Amino acid sequence: MPANILLVEDEPAIQELIAFNLTQAGHHVLRASTADAALMLVKNALPDLVLLDWMLPGGSGIDIAKRLRADERTRQVPIIMLTARSDEQDKIAGLETGADDYITKPFSPRELLARIKAVLRRRAPQMTDDAVEVKGLRLDPATHRVSTDGRPIDLGPTEFRLLHFFMTHPERVHSRAQLLDQVWGDHVFVEERTVDVHIRRLRSSLEGSGHDGLIQTVRGTGYRFSTQQ
Ligand code: CA
Repeated sequence: MPANILLVEDEPAIQELIAFNLTQAGHHVLRASTADAALMLVKNALPDLVLLDWMLPGGSGIDIAKRLRADERTRQVPIIMLTARSDEQDKIAGLETGADDYITKPFSPRELLARIKAVLRRRAPQMTDDAVEVKGLRLDPATHRVSTDGRPIDLGPTEFRLLHFFMTHPERVHSRAQLLDQVWGDHVFVEERTVDVHIRRLRSSLEGSGHDGLIQTVRGTGYRFSTQQ
């Protein structure tokens, strides 16, 4: 499960090493050395996960974590704190600001990758390879297959990601901007009507089996994947 990971680390050697290991594991890495640069990157595109160093020039990792948690748009982004401190008090402080996990330097690349996987599984079910099924509609990320009542259907890559996101976040209303952030990873440079185009395509692929009714338009707000009428 490749993820877009924002790495916030001011020590060039450590930043390089972590970025190398994440890239080797198939992840896409964005890097920042300061709090300002990190927040700017998050403003442009929502990452799937943030690796946050504790001590940074111009604001600590804790400050960034607090700001991400305080903003509706970034509240759900998983955060793993990186730190040289192994102090129990610091660990508690980190988790209290909303970090999902905490890893103490020095750590092995294997340990870091395992932690990332665990956090993504917990916090972002659409990032995992687990198959999902709702009322005969089945999506398997591992094989990239979708079927309705056992019959395979073809979906484009964007429709596939969109359906995966919906199926792992059912019964909630998602605005177009939220869908752009979550599915496209970009709400700045992609127009909101793009969402409508892909929703239309997705519905038409699901029409044959009647599963298109699962994707509901919520007037004036956005879309919802729901088994209720
Ligand atoms: Ca540092």
